[in-house]
Amino acid sequence: MTILRLPGIKKGGTGLDAHLNTKTYESCMRSCSFELFAGSLITGDGEVKENIHIGVTDGVITEISENPLKREYPEAYDFSMKTVMPGLIDAHVHIRYDPSGDPEQQSHEYQALRGTENARKALYSGVTSLGDAGAVGNVAFAVRNAVNNGVTVGPRLFVSGEMITITGGRSKTPGERLEVNGADSAREAARRLLMYHNADYIKLGATGAISSAHTGPRHPQLTVDEMNACCEEAHNCGKLVHSHCYGEKGISNSLEAGCDVIVHGQTLTDAHIDYMRKNDLILMPTLKAFCGHLDHVGEGGTHDRIVSTGIWEETEPNFRRAHKAGLTIAMGTDAGMPDDHFGDNYRDLEYMVEWGMTPMEAVQAGTLNAAKSLAVEDNVGTIGVGKRADLIVLGRNPLDDIRNIGKSLEEVILNGVFIEK
Ligand SMILES: [Zn+2]
Repeated sequence: MTILRLPGIKKGGTGLDAHLNTKTYESCMRSCSFELFAGSLITGDGEVKENIHIGVTDGVITEISENPLKREYPEAYDFSMKTVMPGLIDAHVHIRYDPSGDPEQQSHEYQALRGTENARKALYSGVTSLGDAGAVGNVAFAVRNAVNNGVTVGPRLFVSGEMITITGGRSKTPGERLEVNGADSAREAARRLLMYHNADYIKLGATGAISSAHTGPRHPQLTVDEMNACCEEAHNCGKLVHSHCYGEKGISNSLEAGCDVIVHGQTLTDAHIDYMRKNDLILMPTLKAFCGHLDHVGEGGTHDRIVSTGIWEETEPNFRRAHKAGLTIAMGTDAGMPDDHFGDNYRDLEYMVEWGMTPMEAVQAGTLNAAKSLAVEDNVGTIGVGKRADLIVLGRNPLDDIRNIGKSLEEVILNGVFIEK
């Protein structure tokens, strides 16, 4: 049958409809209603179904059944030879960064402009939601708001704003990060982000970082009290807290403080894993940041910004152990870091499979689990009645080979709108 297309969004085009984005998360301004028939449907929560009819009304999935196409909708799409799954959710990126340059040398305005391009690249590769886990100033909020207002096209953006750190904990330039000292100061910083900027989540620096040469990645930074104050404020607003940590002590502090998502987390102990499993907490191992980078070591270039500390070497055994123990693991590429680009975000899932996950588990990490890590699973991350129609259509089934997400992507649908590159 002929596939009818909705008017698409042309690359670089203007006048984009606001319903593409989070602003119209709750409502769709114009008709984005259609039906499709999927040969294979991966729901995102571990199920796969064959020969399924889906109806979408105003950007929301309104019916799922075993019927053929009904011809009752404005548009009909026959994907009987294809696989339909939820759009990917990459819950940890740095939209402002250029993976091949030094962002500290560039103005905030320049970084925001580049952020819009990074967002677009991610969308075109099948990512329908992004989490920005730490920018400077208002850069990431500006990108989010530009997307929301239809100034530029991009995935739904969930933004933490500036990362909260100890004084000098990340940058040696005073004021480059949201620096706090003491629980009151941390609480105020969290309130500023949540109240003034409507931050979608809070990002904390519980240890030093391999990308901040003057810090020790294994050294703890924010205290339990400081982080606990931030957790209280975020949780009061129904939002989650992501904690950047490499070293064991930083992970312990984060868990004691009440953080919801452990980011990187290379030194998980059995006790950490046990606690996280019992409390439904999430690990975001950011494999693409480490593997993508290692792929380029020895070629010269941007990896000089990174200090090797043995953290990389711990990534694989740590991931395998966490996965084996049944920890909830979510996609987060850290895209923007050196040699970690936008536009191949799906590689994160390929590394997960390489290191022991089944393709179905990896798909769930990149959909439902990532949605949970941003507390948006009621709206996105799975295919079900009442969920937003954020979908991708693949020529080949990723359950046969996870690389089929990257290799056979045919359509990206955001909020019921087919995106045209
Ligand atoms: Zn990061």
